[in-house]
Amino acid sequence: MPGNDTAAIIARWPAEGTPKHKPMLILAHMDVVDALPSDWTTDPFELVEKDGYFYGRGSGDDKGGLVPSLVALLKLKEAGFKPNRDIVILFTGDEETQGKGAELGATEWRKWTEAEFALNADGGGGAFTRDGKPLGFGLQTSEKTFQTYYFRTRNPGGHSSRPRPDNAIYDLADALKKLQGYRFEPALNETTKVYFTERAKQEGTASSAMQCAPGWPTPPTARALTASNPIRSRLA
Ligand SMILES: [Zn+2]
Repeated sequence: MPGNDTAAIIARWPAEGTPKHKPMLILAHMDVVDALPSDWTTDPFELVEKDGYFYGRGSGDDKGGLVPSLVALLKLKEAGFKPNRDIVILFTGDEETQGKGAELGATEWRKWTEAEFALNADGGGGAFTRDGKPLGFGLQTSEKTFQTYYFRTRNPGGHSSRPRPDNAIYDLADALKKLQGYRFEPALNETTKVYFTERAKQEGTASSAMQCAPGWPTPPTARALTASNPIRSRLA
C-alpha cells in the first residue's frame, strides 16, 4: 500500500454471461487495532474459541464481517451459484490507521471497484435472542468521526516568589471542566429517525432513548440518551 506497509486485495467474481446489472462491491478490513498481550488472558493474535465466545483482537471488528463475507461467497461458488452481476470484493489493511485503502478504492482504483452499490461489512449488523430468534438487522448509512479542537489559555504570568491566584493552567482546567459538562442536543437524521421509530415499536417509549422516536413531544437531551445507553449516543 503506498504510504504504509499494509496490503489490500481486490477480487472479482464475474457474472455468468452478459451481466444484467452493474457490479456489487463488498467491503471489509483485514487489520486490527493494536493489542498488548499482557492485557489479555489469551494470545490476542490467535483466535481462541472458549465457552461459546471468540477471543482474539479484531474477532468482531472486522473479522466478524470479513470472514462471513468470504465464506458466503465460497459457499455460493461451491453450491454452483451463478451471479447475474460481477461481485467485487475490496479488503483493505489500514482501516484502523490511515484508511488509504478505502480512499484509493474510491478514487484511483475505481476502474476495478466501480459498482452499483457497495455493502460494507464493518457497519450495521444484526442480533438474535439467546434462543436464536432474529431481533432485527441495523443498517449503518454513515459514521461519526472525530474532530480535534485545541484550547489555549493566556495569562499575564508572574514570578513564583509572588504567586497570583489566577493562572493560565487553572483557566484551562476550568474550560475543560465546562467542556465535560457540555452536551450537544441530539440531531436525528433520516436513518436514526427510522431506527428509533422501529425500536420504539419493540421496546415501547418507556426508556428515555426511545423518546427520540419522531412525534415524541419533548426529545430527551443527549445526556439522557447517553445515560440510558451509551451506545445510543452515537445515533444522535
Ligand atoms: Zn472496523
